[in-house]
Amino acid sequence: MLCIAAPAALAQDAVRPLRTPPGDKPAIAQDARMRGTGAPDVTVRKTDKPTTGKPTTGKPLDLKSRTAEIPLPRPRPPEAGPGNAALAPADIDQAAVPAEPPPPSECFVALEATGFATVTSLPPLALANGCEAPDVLRLDAVMLADKRQITFNPPATLRCPMAVELVRWVRDDLAPAASVIGPLTGIENGSFECRGRNRVATAKLSEHGKANALDIGALLFANRKRINLTDPLVSHDFRDKIRADACARFKTVLGPGSDGYHEEHIHLDLQERRNDFRICQWNVLDVPLPIPRPPEADIAQAESEKKDAGKPDGDDKKL
Ligand SMILES: [Zn+2]
Repeated sequence: MLCIAAPAALAQDAVRPLRTPPGDKPAIAQDARMRGTGAPDVTVRKTDKPTTGKPTTGKPLDLKSRTAEIPLPRPRPPEAGPGNAALAPADIDQAAVPAEPPPPSECFVALEATGFATVTSLPPLALANGCEAPDVLRLDAVMLADKRQITFNPPATLRCPMAVELVRWVRDDLAPAASVIGPLTGIENGSFECRGRNRVATAKLSEHGKANALDIGALLFANRKRINLTDPLVSHDFRDKIRADACARFKTVLGPGSDGYHEEHIHLDLQERRNDFRICQWNVLDVPLPIPRPPEADIAQAESEKKDAGKPDGDDKKL
């Protein structure tokens, strides 16, 4: 699917020069203002005599005859071509069509041809504050071999190589592993966002600002279960496998225990580093067990109870 729709504002800009701006007056009125006569606009254009500087007589002017004196434009010579005024309505519509967006990349064409994902090619991202990304697409869903669909909620905006790796991960690793919980149907996520790392304004630009990252919030299942991969109550083995597979595929994986900003979601990206250095920081946590009570605590409690038992009844009444 190729997205070719142009922003409405762009189309409007393209046709504006062909229209008379609503606040403009006819050329005859503009002439009057330039000559500084101060007379009403429609009475002062003099094309038959040179300006003498004498005041006008004040007689009412014959508009009919004055209009007739305005010289008509000379016919346009054939060699000059049609010009804007000669454009038919159909020509004007054609002139308003903006330039075609760049064709889809090889990466996009190859991904779409697999039929493994519902994707739409998007124009390159280029924001003023450095958030740039060529080869961008919208990923709506991943199709499994059995034709089941896993939707991205909301649709993810990603660079094509990141989308390719994500589609492979969902099809080959995540969905099969998630079957221990139920049929996977959706992924709540966050993708492109022009911001600094961890939403710190002064920090280095996040991979999210390059459409090269995905945050996974919750997984949705056909049995209406909604789980978070950071939840210690979710099967440890399942989360452990997801972690291992993700760290094998992506260049950065951040979760609980990484930096304090990823305690409730998992971050995945394909940031290139020297020597293919990778970061895999996700502690698969378990529900903490209660700390065993030390024996000396029991002894202290027993002694305290013994003391209380020996007190006279009157002491209780003072409380
Ligand atoms: Zn993130």
